Amino acid sequence: MRRVSILGATGSIGQNTIDLIARAPEDYQVVALTGGRNAQKLAQDAIRLGAQIAVVADEAALPALREALSGSGIEAAAGRAALIEAAQRPADWVMSAIVGAAGLEPGLRALQGGAALALANKESMVCAGPLMLRTAAEGRGRILPVDSEHSAVFQALLGEDIASVERIVITASGGAFRDWPLEDLDKATPEQAATHPNWDMGQRITIDSASMFNKALELIETKEFFGVSPDKIETVVHPESMIHAMVGFNDGALMAHVGPADMRHAIGFALHYPQRKSLPVERLDLVKLGQLTFRTACEVRWPALRLAREVMHTGGLAGAVFNAAKETALDGFIEKRITFSRMAGVVEEVLTSLSAQAGLIDAEVTLDNVLQADHLARQKAHEILTH
Ligand code: NAD
Ligand code: MG
Repeated sequence: MRRVSILGATGSIGQNTIDLIARAPEDYQVVALTGGRNAQKLAQDAIRLGAQIAVVADEAALPALREALSGSGIEAAAGRAALIEAAQRPADWVMSAIVGAAGLEPGLRALQGGAALALANKESMVCAGPLMLRTAAEGRGRILPVDSEHSAVFQALLGEDIASVERIVITASGGAFRDWPLEDLDKATPEQAATHPNWDMGQRITIDSASMFNKALELIETKEFFGVSPDKIETVVHPESMIHAMVGFNDGALMAHVGPADMRHAIGFALHYPQRKSLPVERLDLVKLGQLTFRTACEVRWPALRLAREVMHTGGLAGAVFNAAKETALDGFIEKRITFSRMAGVVEEVLTSLSAQAGLIDAEVTLDNVLQADHLARQKAHEILTH
C-alpha cells in the first residue's frame, strides 16, 4: 500500500487524481486531502477514500467540514498552518495541485519529507525552480512533472542524454481567442476567456491559456525543470492539442508525445512511475483525427511569450516576480478592473520596476526571498491596478 496525499484535491487536477486512485483503493492509503473552501466536496472524497485528515485553507469553512466529517473518524482542520502540517505528514507520493504561488510551500514541505512530488503546480518551478531541485537532490524525494507538456518531455527524455537535446518544442492550443481579430481582444470578457477549446481545466489556468500566460509559465518551467538554455525552447500553436511537446535531438530526430487531451495520462504516469500501467484514457484513432496543424505563436497577439523569454534570460527571482504580477493582473481582469490586453502591460511594468531595485531579482532563490519577491510584486501590481 502506498501512502498518498493530494493537495488541491477539490480542483480539476485533484479530482482527476482522485478518479485514478478511487479505481484501485486497495493499492493506496490516503493520508491528507486539502481544498480551498469547498468543505462538502472535500469531506465526500475524504470519506470515500478513507483519508486520515482533510484540510480546508479557508478557516471559515471549518465548521462545515467538521459537520460533514462528523462520525467518520477523519480529522478536520483549517488554515495555512494546518495545510502545511498536513502536507508534511509522511507519504510516499504527494500530488501538488493547488493553483498559484500558494502551492509552493506545501509542495516544498512534502518534498522535504521525502515524498515523490507529482508537480501540477507549475508556479513552484517558475518561482523557485533551483530551490525545488535542490530540495529534491538533498533529500529522498523526487519531482515528477504533471503539466502535460513537461510530462511529455520527461517521457521523451527517458534513457536519453540531455546534452544531445537541440530543442524542446512546447505546443500551445492558442486558447479561447486564437482566431479572434487582434482589435477585438480588448473587449474579451472573463467568461469568454474561461472557455477552453480543448481542455477542461480550472478557471484561472483556462484564462491563462487565452492570454498564453500559461504557456509563458510553462516555458520558464521547462528551462528550470530540464536545465536547458532558453534559446533551445520553442513554442508553436497546435490547435488540436494532440501533440503535447516534442524533443529534438542532435541527430535530427524529433520525438513527439501524442495523445488525447486528458490529464489522467500525465497524472497516471507520475503515479505509477517508473512503471507504466494501463490508464482509462481514450486511445487515438489516427485516421479519424485526419490531420494535425501548426501555426506561429505570435508575440504581438501573445506578449506573455516575449516576457517569458526575458524572465528566462534574467533568472533568479524574476520568475517569482513575473508569476505574482501575473496572478494579481489576472485577479484584476476577473474582477473586471482591467481589460484582457492590459494584463501583459501590468506584468511588464512590475518586472521593469522591481528589476531596477538593486539586489532584489538576483538574490539567492530561498523560500524567504521568493516569498518576499512575491509580496513586493503583488504590492506593485496592486498599485498599478489602482492608479
Ligand atoms: P483548480 O482551480 O481547479 O483547483 C485548485 C485547487 O487549489 C482547489 O482544490 C482549490 O480549492 C485549491 N486552492 C485554491 N487556492 C488555494 C489557496 N490559497 N490555498 C490552498 N488551496 C487553494 O485548478 P487546476 O486547474 O486543478 O490547477 C491546479 C494546478 O495545476 C495549477 O497550478 C495549474 O496551473 C496546474 N495545471 C492544471 C492543469 C489542468 O488540466 N487543470 C494542467 C496542467 C497544470
Ligand atoms: Mg500544460
